[in-house]
Amino acid sequence: MTKEFDIIARYFTRPTSHTLLGIGDDAALIQATPGCELVVVSTDMLVSGVHFFAHADPDKLGHKTLAVNLSDMAAMGAEPRWATLAVALPALDESWINHFSRGFFRLALEHAVDLIGGDTTRGPLCLALQIIGEVPSGMALRRDGAQANDDVWISGKLGEAALGLAHLQGKIELDGRSAEICLRRLHTPQPRVALGRALRGVASAAIDISDGLLADLEHIATRSGVGAEVEIDLLPRPDVMSGIAENELRQAVLAGGDDYELCFCAPAARQQTIAAIAQQLQLPLTKIGRIVGGGGVRAIDGNGREFQASVRGFDHFEPS
Ligand code: ADP
Ligand code: MG
Repeated sequence: MTKEFDIIARYFTRPTSHTLLGIGDDAALIQATPGCELVVVSTDMLVSGVHFFAHADPDKLGHKTLAVNLSDMAAMGAEPRWATLAVALPALDESWINHFSRGFFRLALEHAVDLIGGDTTRGPLCLALQIIGEVPSGMALRRDGAQANDDVWISGKLGEAALGLAHLQGKIELDGRSAEICLRRLHTPQPRVALGRALRGVASAAIDISDGLLADLEHIATRSGVGAEVEIDLLPRPDVMSGIAENELRQAVLAGGDDYELCFCAPAARQQTIAAIAQQLQLPLTKIGRIVGGGGVRAIDGNGREFQASVRGFDHFEPS
């Protein structure tokens, strides 16, 4: 067996649980559950030097490669089912691949995702995952359903991943415990798949926060043809000992990326239902603002002043 196929067999081939034909042929065969629509959220790519540092822990990278895609499934209210993985590897470092594979399959097992194919080549380290999920017909959570007067909600806390990154970049210095919390958020995000599922038929629109709250909520606003107002004081604060300037903290919460929490909208009448979901999932859900007419997204402080974020979210082609 050639090295390439040996690697695929050893590190990327695992038993599948709901796949007709998996790894080993020219393409995989899958079948949607009757009554479900297939949802393909194609290809989130993680590139060395852009999305992670070259020396990043491969186990965590395996987790994150899948997690960011599961988060897209969560945002659609979809059940993640299948994935294909394209990897470019600079060299044949078996220990690296082994750890990457372990981190990947730990999370894949947790969410019953079958890896059904991919591609393995030599090149600058790059990881591209395509994920395929399904959702009962007509029940997908979309970005375009928000209505004026809907409440805007988020899951969990925002900003910790961005603070972790700033810490790694030497822009801020977190104490030991805060650094641990923030780096865990950055390296091993927990995709909110169960929340997405629970929000079917409840949320009017949803998105996962990968680039930053203001930028991502703006996507909902634009697609729905509405505007949104966020009350800064309603946002949960990052769990850090603060030696950090208030402005920096706000910037991280409102525009920091990589949190992979969900932001969703729902009519005010759904408040009780949402509180029950939070209780059931043991996941804080916080109402942070509302949908308004017009357009754009504004963040307002306790004095009614608008916060002017220096950046509204991560943009690959915007100079930082
Ligand atoms: P082909 O040349 O027909 O595209 P390959 O030789 O590239 O097929 O791959 C052989 C099999 O291994 C295919 O089923 C492919 O989907 C799978 N595969 C290749 N790389 C990976 C990977 N990194 N993870 C999962 N499956 C992979
Ligand atoms: Mg191929």
